[in-house]
Amino acid sequence: MRYAESIVDLVGGTPLVRLSRVTRGLWPGAEEGRGPLVLAKVEYMNPGGSVKDRIALKMVLEAEKSGALKPGGTIVEPTSGNTGVGLALVAQQRGYSCVFVCPDKVSEDKRNVLRAYGAEVVVCPTAVEPSHPDSYYNVSDRLARERPGGWKPDQYSNPAGPQSHYETTGPEVWEDTEGRVTHFVAGVGTGGTITGVGRYLKEVSADREGGPVQVVGVDPEGSVYSGGTGRPYLVEGVGEDFWPSAYDPEVADEIVPVSDGDSFHLTRRLAREEGLLVGGSCGMAAVGALRVAQRLAEEGRDDAVVVVLLPDGGRGYLSKIFDDRWMASYGFLAPTGGSTAADVLR
Ligand code: PMP
Repeated sequence: MRYAESIVDLVGGTPLVRLSRVTRGLWPGAEEGRGPLVLAKVEYMNPGGSVKDRIALKMVLEAEKSGALKPGGTIVEPTSGNTGVGLALVAQQRGYSCVFVCPDKVSEDKRNVLRAYGAEVVVCPTAVEPSHPDSYYNVSDRLARERPGGWKPDQYSNPAGPQSHYETTGPEVWEDTEGRVTHFVAGVGTGGTITGVGRYLKEVSADREGGPVQVVGVDPEGSVYSGGTGRPYLVEGVGEDFWPSAYDPEVADEIVPVSDGDSFHLTRRLAREEGLLVGGSCGMAAVGALRVAQRLAEEGRDDAVVVVLLPDGGRGYLSKIFDDRWMASYGFLAPTGGSTAADVLR
């Protein structure tokens, strides 16, 4: 019989799929499959529905090893939802309670998912400075101190986050592309994904003919990684108003800023044209990947293999990105309701 002992054993090992529709019209011959190969790593195939299952598992296992997390303890974390789901899965299977602190911009759908797994959810205002006592960072610190056996994984500073990507996501990309990946593209939130995957791919390809893998971070316009100050943006899970230690600025060769509108248009096209119902940070990362691929095509790099990581699924965003009225209320829908490849790659 072939079965997993626990849902936790199914974390990782996600597939790559070619993006062949949204690349059409971006360079001559794209329709016939010529030019750079653009592959999406589909992280919603993880059991908790996102890339964050990987870091949740590694952070809990390392905390058990170090003694920071004791049997029956409580995990307290500020999270936009996905890390919470991953932690809730792992916690449940290993006998811990969970309290999650979310900013109020996170959809009610996402909060209810956390509650469904048996976690407690505390909601905090988005529109306060990180130093404010009501900021979601400070509320989670307080709860971690107050709850018995409280432990805060802190995905922003926990080295187990990037390490999980160094040990699993990076090797998967390398093996599945048979060492032919030339560019790795990912959105930057805590920075754990780009740091861990990027570091692994650069190391393993260091002496390769044709040069090491190029690592491209994608960031919402206004966030610190692309030179902003943290101006509010709507895409969830990426961008920051401070520099987390999970992010190593040495790893990315380039950071591409992308607007909310472009991110959401491509998110919708990924669902409609590629059959990939994914979240807004996926559309954002994919805009970055298509811009890179288009540039490579112009340079005649037909051998390029661009891998873009898509962090989560789209079901948590049905009443936002996939709702025409919500999109129109922010001016994201053209009067025709459509968008072209050229719109997204302005
Ligand atoms: N997209 C979503 C939806 C996320 O939840 C996150 C994690 N905050 C990211 C992208 C960014 O990943 P990372 O934290 O590894 O930079």
